[in-house]
Amino acid sequence: MYTFNPGPSAVYPAVRQYLTDAFDEGWLSAPHRSEKVTALVRQTVTDLKTKLNVPQDYTVLFTGSATECWEILAQSLTPRRSFHIYNGDFGEKWYKYAKAIRPASTGLSFGLDELPDIASLPFAPDDTDLVCITQNETSTATQLREGFILNLYNRLGGALLAVDATSSLAGLNLKYIKADIWYGSVQKCFGLPAGLGVMILSPRAVAQAKLVNDRSHYNGLPAMLSQMLNHQTNYTPNVLGIYLLSRVLADREPIKTVHQHLADRAEKLYAFFEQATPLTPLINNYETRSTTVIGLRGDAGLIDEIKAKAREAGLQLGSGYGPLKNTTIRIANFPAVPDAAMEALVQFFAKEYPG
Ligand SMILES: *Cc1c(COP(=O)(O)O)cnc(C)c1O
Repeated sequence: MYTFNPGPSAVYPAVRQYLTDAFDEGWLSAPHRSEKVTALVRQTVTDLKTKLNVPQDYTVLFTGSATECWEILAQSLTPRRSFHIYNGDFGEKWYKYAKAIRPASTGLSFGLDELPDIASLPFAPDDTDLVCITQNETSTATQLREGFILNLYNRLGGALLAVDATSSLAGLNLKYIKADIWYGSVQKCFGLPAGLGVMILSPRAVAQAKLVNDRSHYNGLPAMLSQMLNHQTNYTPNVLGIYLLSRVLADREPIKTVHQHLADRAEKLYAFFEQATPLTPLINNYETRSTTVIGLRGDAGLIDEIKAKAREAGLQLGSGYGPLKNTTIRIANFPAVPDAAMEALVQFFAKEYPG
């Protein structure tokens, strides 16, 4: 069975061996303040920076999930308000979490085939702590490209730019220097089981966290940052998750190679679904289409039929999300989804829905 679910998503087959190794090597009971575990954390952070092209002066922290990052950012980097630009469920949820904690936060939604006009964004740069975007909106299969993020970054004034990159982190070659906070969780493009989040902070974000000095939460940034100086966390972390991450990173190709592979596959898939099948790409605009989550649209009856037939053929297609649940299919184009799965998918459509 191949799974195309965009999260939790396909894990690397090698994870089976990593799990056995974790058991055999004693990681499951290793004390988290021991030299054994702190050395693992140090090495994992080093490898993450190397393999993903994260600038050396950025700080990497571990969290429980991407969702937790929403709260941490509101609590520890938002004394006044955040401004959210979103076009799907994850971006909107982030906005709701932020607003529950900082009620003065505001948001702007935009259409799936559009890009917001940066010059007329309704926020006051000097009165806003965070501008929040979702680099890859998993629910709508859309993406904000490098050029958009760069233009936004240049118009921030005193605000910091925070990026939810949950379904692109470790899949795309993200330009980390063009934002202050990036985060994601490991059950998407890292090809690992869920239970670990990764947050990446610029020196500017670290300085701001120290200034805000949130001491009221166990995962407040000042405590996380000072613990991480010793490669530790405040609480007992997901050592197994960190171990698996270290193994996956060690086996990984550089992110440029991974990115190019995903971009080539996405292009082929979009071209195929534009022509040969009863489904059409959900997103028409080439500029806003996601590379890592391919959205396909069709009527609800047909979608049901395709999903059932595909399951029989050993292909687990991803369902639509939120309001798009019944009329869309999502195909995770994540690094751990093998080329053979993509070929099987194309063959399934060519056979079942010819011409
Ligand atoms: C999956 C996802 C999340 C939530 O991740 P968790 O690890 O479940 O908290 C947040 N944002 C985006 C864009 C996602 O794809």
